[in-house]
Amino acid sequence: MKIINIDQLNIRDSLPSPKGVALAIVQMCRNDDISIHEITRLIQTDPTLSYRLIHRANLTRNTSRQISSVSDAVFHLGIQSVKQLALSFSLIDQYQQGNCKAFDYHQFWSHSLLMAIASEAFGNVIRISVREELFTCGLLARIGCLALATIYPQKYSEILGINDTHRSLIEKERQYLETDHNHMTVAMLVDAGFAMELIESVYYHEEPMESGFFEDSRSYQLTQLFHLAKHLADITILAESEYFEQTAELMLLAKRIGFQTKSFIDIVQNIIQEWKNWNSLLKISDTTTPCPQTITRTIEQFSGNNQNASSLRVLVIEDDPASRRLIEEILSNILGHTVFSAENGQQGLSLGLETMPHVVITDWIMPVMDGLELTRALRATDWGKNTYIIMLTGVEEEKLAKAFEIGVDDYITKPINIHTFRARLRAAWHHRRLQDSWQQNQMQLKQSVAELSTSNRKLEQAAHTDILTGLPNRRAGMEALSRAWSIASRTYQLIAAILIDIDYFKRINDSHGHAAGDVVLKAVAASIQNTARKGDFFCRIGGEEFLIICQDKKTNLRSTAIFAERLRQKIGSEYIDIHGKTVTVTISIGIALKEPYMQNEDQLIKAADKALYTAKDSGRNKIFCANGDHFFEPDPGDA
Ligand code: GH3
Ligand code: MG
Ligand code: MG
Ligand code: MG
Repeated sequence: MKIINIDQLNIRDSLPSPKGVALAIVQMCRNDDISIHEITRLIQTDPTLSYRLIHRANLTRNTSRQISSVSDAVFHLGIQSVKQLALSFSLIDQYQQGNCKAFDYHQFWSHSLLMAIASEAFGNVIRISVREELFTCGLLARIGCLALATIYPQKYSEILGINDTHRSLIEKERQYLETDHNHMTVAMLVDAGFAMELIESVYYHEEPMESGFFEDSRSYQLTQLFHLAKHLADITILAESEYFEQTAELMLLAKRIGFQTKSFIDIVQNIIQEWKNWNSLLKISDTTTPCPQTITRTIEQFSGNNQNASSLRVLVIEDDPASRRLIEEILSNILGHTVFSAENGQQGLSLGLETMPHVVITDWIMPVMDGLELTRALRATDWGKNTYIIMLTGVEEEKLAKAFEIGVDDYITKPINIHTFRARLRAAWHHRRLQDSWQQNQMQLKQSVAELSTSNRKLEQAAHTDILTGLPNRRAGMEALSRAWSIASRTYQLIAAILIDIDYFKRINDSHGHAAGDVVLKAVAASIQNTARKGDFFCRIGGEEFLIICQDKKTNLRSTAIFAERLRQKIGSEYIDIHGKTVTVTISIGIALKEPYMQNEDQLIKAADKALYTAKDSGRNKIFCANGDHFFEPDPGDA
C-alpha cells in the first residue's frame, strides 16, 4: 500500500475537506489535552451537528437511558468518534453536489452511508474491537472517489463515461490520472488521523485477496467486513435484474466471515431500515435507490430450501463434521439446493442409490470407503454413470490424475473457498442442463421411433389385409405359404393347401348386384375365419377364392379332408341375408399335401388348383384331393 502525502500533492485546497465547526473540531482534536467540555461547547454552536451526534449516540447506546444532551453524546461516543463523525457529516453537507458531471453525488453518499451502517452492524456481530470507528471508516471508505471527482472534475467525468466493462474503475483511474481512488482514500484517512490498521483494511476492501493478511488476523477480518459492506451497498445501485446473482455472492461472502444465513437476513433488514433513517436525517435524496423491501426480499429468497429452476439434488460425503456442515449450509441455505449427506463412501453409496443426486461431492480420505472407491462404485451403477462427481481434496494435485481416470468430473481443494465452490457448482449445473436436454432429445427420438414403427406396422398391416373381408390378402397368403414351406422343408412336417372357390358366384352378382356379391364374400370369409382351427392360416387369395394353409403336427390328408368337409357343409347350409332376401352358396374345394416330388410352394398350389378344377368339373360343391397326377374325393365317411 502506497501512502500519498497530501502535503506533497499540493491539492489540499481542492480535496474534500471539513468546514466550519467540523474543521474546528478536527483541529481542536490535534491537541491531546482537549476536554469533553470544550468539544461540547464547540459542537453546541452547530445545531445540526448537535442533533446528528445525539441521534448517533442514541443509536449506539447500550443503556436504556435516552441521551439528550451534547455532553452525554460526546461522552458516550468518545472524542475520537465525535471528531470523525463531525468530519463525515460536514463532508456530506458540503459535497452533495459538485462539478464532476458524471459523478452521482447523491448516490455516492447514499452508498457510503449504507457502507457505514453495514460496517458497524457487521462489526457488532463479529465482535471486532475497533467497533466505534467502523461507522466512519465505512462512510469514508470510498472518499477517494469524491476526491478524484473534486480535484479532476472534467477528466474524472470522462473516465466514468468510458464504456469498457473489461477494465475496472481503478485501472482506468491509474491510466488517466496516475493514481486511484483507494490511494486517495488512504491519503485522506491518514490525514484525518485514523488508525493504520483500519486504513489498511479499507485500502484492500475491494480486493481482499490482494491484502496477503493472515486469515485469522484482525486486519483480514476487517478487510472482509468492509468488502461485505461494499457488496451490500453495491446491490442498492444495481439494476433489479442483477440482484439475484449479486445477492448470492453476498450470502457467500457473509458465510465466509461466519454469518448464519438467518441472522444475516435479520441484520441486513435492520441495516436497510437504519439506512433509510440516516438518508432522511442527512437529507440525502434516496429516490435513485431501490426500495429496501426489494433487497431484503431477494435476500430472503436465499433462505430455506427454495426450489428454483437451478436447484440440484446434491449428495455430500465427508467424514469431517465441521466441513460437512459448512458445505451443507452453503448448498442448501445459500444456493438453494437439496442436500443429502453421509459420513463415508459406503453410506454415501446407499444414500445415492436412494436419492439419485445430480451432483456428488465427496471427500477423498474417509474411513470405510474412500472417495476413489466410491467413485469407482458409483460409475459402475446405472444412475452413477451420469452423476457429476466433485472430489474434495487436500492431497497434492499430482494425484488428481488418478481420480480423473477413475471418473471424477472435477475437484475442489480444502479448505473450501466459497467462490471456487460456487463456480464449480455452476459447471455441475451446466452439466446437468446438458444432460437434461440430451435426455429430452433421447426421449423425443424414442417417441418418434415408436411412432414411426407404429405407422410402419399399420402400413404393413394395410399392405397385407384385404379391405373388403378384413382377411389377409393374397400377398400375405403367399408370404405365409413360403414361410410354411421352408419350415416344412426343414422339419419334414406335413403341410396342406386348401383352395376354396365359390360356385357360380357370377350369378349372384348378376342377379342381386355387385354389392350383394360383396355381402356374400364377407359372409363366406367370416365362416372360414370362424371354422379355421388354431394354427391354420387363411386368406382371400383372389375374387371369390380363398386359401387355407394347414401346418400342424396332426396335419395329414384325413384331418385336412375332415376340416374341408366341415367347412363345405357349414357354408352350404348358411342363409346369407342380402337386404331382406336370403341366398345360399356352395363352395368347391381342392386339397393338396406337400409331396416329395414338389420343388416349391407353387407346385403345391398348382396341385390344389388342379384338384379344385376337378371338383368344379365333377359338378361343384365337392372336395377333391390331389395325389400326384391323380385326383380323388376323400371318403365322405371320414367327415
Ligand atoms: P364357377 O362356379 O365356375 O367358379 O363360376 P363363377 O361364376 O363363380 O366363376 P367366375 O370366375 O366365372 O366368376 C367369378 C366372378 O367373381 C367374376 C367377378 O365379377 C366376381 N368377383 C370377383 N371379385 C369380386 C368382388 O370383390 N366383389 C364382387 N361382388 N364380385 C367379384
Ligand atoms: Mg476425510
Ligand atoms: Mg373363380
Ligand atoms: Mg367361382
